[in-house]
Amino acid sequence: MTRARKLRIAIIGAGASGIMALIKLREAGIEDVTIYEKADTLGGTWRDNRYPGVTCDVPSHGYRYSFEPNAEWSRVCAPGTEILDYLKDVARKHNVEASIRYGHEVTRADWRDRHWHLETSKGDQGAFDAVITATGILHHPVMPDIPGLDDFDGEAFHTARWKDEVSLAGKRVGVIGTGSTATQIVGAVVGEVAHLSLFQRTAQWILPLPQAPIPEEQKALYRADPALLEQEYQRISFENNSKFAAAIVGANPGAYRAMVTACEENLARVADPVLRAKLTPSYAVGCKRMILSDNFYEALQRPNAELVTEGIERFERDGIRTKDGRLHPLDVIVLATGFNTHQLFRPMEVTGRGGKTMDAAWAKGNEGYKAVTVPDFPNWFMIGGPNSPIGNFSWLLTAENQFNFALKLILKLRDGNVSEIAPKREAAQAFNEAVRAKLPDTVWATGCQSWYIDPHGNIASWPWTYEKFEADMREPVWEDFEVA
Ligand code: NAP
Repeated sequence: MTRARKLRIAIIGAGASGIMALIKLREAGIEDVTIYEKADTLGGTWRDNRYPGVTCDVPSHGYRYSFEPNAEWSRVCAPGTEILDYLKDVARKHNVEASIRYGHEVTRADWRDRHWHLETSKGDQGAFDAVITATGILHHPVMPDIPGLDDFDGEAFHTARWKDEVSLAGKRVGVIGTGSTATQIVGAVVGEVAHLSLFQRTAQWILPLPQAPIPEEQKALYRADPALLEQEYQRISFENNSKFAAAIVGANPGAYRAMVTACEENLARVADPVLRAKLTPSYAVGCKRMILSDNFYEALQRPNAELVTEGIERFERDGIRTKDGRLHPLDVIVLATGFNTHQLFRPMEVTGRGGKTMDAAWAKGNEGYKAVTVPDFPNWFMIGGPNSPIGNFSWLLTAENQFNFALKLILKLRDGNVSEIAPKREAAQAFNEAVRAKLPDTVWATGCQSWYIDPHGNIASWPWTYEKFEADMREPVWEDFEVA
C-alpha cells in the first residue's frame, strides 16, 4: 500500500513552457509549486523579443496551448505582442502569477539528501523534490566577434535587447545578420528608415509566409464553434509536423521537394539578377533553420535598401567598415546575430549525484535521455533539453509533450514509494548513439553553419519524426530508469 507524497516542485522560467508546466502540475493535484523567474514579468522569448516586425512564423491557431484555444488571433501568423498578451491572459485565468517569484535568477542547484537545494540571486530557497527547467533555447544573445563596437557613436543593440526609446524613422540603419529575426525587422522598418544596409554573411532560403488578417466573420465562427478551432489546431499541427518537420529529417521526400520548389520560386521573384545571385544560398534548403517571410525580398528591392555581402572589418565611430575599405555611415546598428542555443539553463551551477556537475557531464556537448532527463541528475526534468525537437514546428506542442513525459515520472515520485528517479547511463548512451546514427540522414548535416550545431560539431536537434517524438513522450520506458 503506497500513500501519495506531498511534493514540492520548482519550475525555472516563467515563459510559455513554465506557465504551462505550472498549470498542468496543479491540474494533476500538485499544488506546492514555485516558478523562479529572473526578470520582473512573464513571457520569456515573447517578452524579450520586441523588435519591429516580431511575428511567430507558425500559424497562430497551431501556436497555442492545446488546452487554451483562442478565437481572437488577428492574422494567420500573429505578431509577438499578441502572443505575449495570450500568455498573460492564460496566466491570469489560471492565477499563475501567485506562484511566480520574480527577480529570482536561479544560480545553484545541488542534489543532496534526495532533494534539490536551490539558490537564487536573492538567497537560499530551500529543498525541492523535483526541478523543471523551462528556460528556453533562444535565450542568450550572441554579440558579434567584430572589433570596435564601443567606438561607434550611434546606438547599437541586440535584437533581444531592443531599445524602445530609439526611433528608426529617417535614420541610416545597419542590420547585421540574415536569420528569422533580421528578415522580420528588415521587412518592418524599410518603409520608415532613410537608408537600410543589411550585412549578410550567409544567404538564406526563404519560404513565402501566409500572412493574411483573419476576418471578423471567421473569428465569429471560431467563437461560436470550438470544434472548428480544434480542427484548425489539428490541421496546422499535422501540416507542420508530418510534412514540414518530416521533410527536414528526411522522412518525407515529397514534402521536401515541395519546400525546395517553393523556396526557389520565391527567390525567382527578385527581379535584379545581381541581387538574386547574392541572395542565393550555396547549401541545401532546410540546412539552416527555415525562414518564412512575406516581405523580405520586396524590402531589399526598395531604392533605400542595400544588401552588403562584403565581410565586416570593424565598427567605427561613424558606422561599419567592410573589408573592401568602404565605410557604411550609420546612425543605428541592429545586431540580429542570434543566440547561444547550447547554454540552455547555464550559467546556473547544477551539481547532481556524487558531486557531478552538469558542466562536467556536458563537457563534450549537451547530452541527456530523450531530451528531458540526464543520468546522475535525479528528479531534474528539462523542457527543451539536449536534442529537443527545435525544427520549425510549434514549440508549445513540443513543450507540452516533454512536460507530459516528465509528469509521468513526477507522478511516480508522488505515488510510487519512490524519492529518486533518473535514467540509467546505458539507456542514455543508447539514446545518444541512436541520435548520432540518425543525424547524418537529416538536412542539418549537409554542410552549413547553423545554431543547431554546437561548438563540438554535434547537432542539437531531434533527428526523427514528430510522430516518433510524440510516441516516445507518451509513456516512459520504465526499464530505462533507475529508482530509489
Ligand atoms: P540566427 O538564425 O542565428 O541568425 C543570426 C544571423 O547573424 C546569421 O545570419 C549569422 O550569419 C549572423 N551573424 C552572426 N554573427 C555574425 C558576425 N560576426 N558577422 C556577420 N554576421 C553574423 O538568429 P535569429 O535570426 O535571431 O534567429 C534565431 C532563431 O530564433 C530562428 O532560427 C528561429 O528559430 C527563432 N525565431 C523565430 C521567429 C519566428 O517567427 N518564430 C522569429 C525570430 C526568431 P551566418 O548565417 O553566416 O552564421
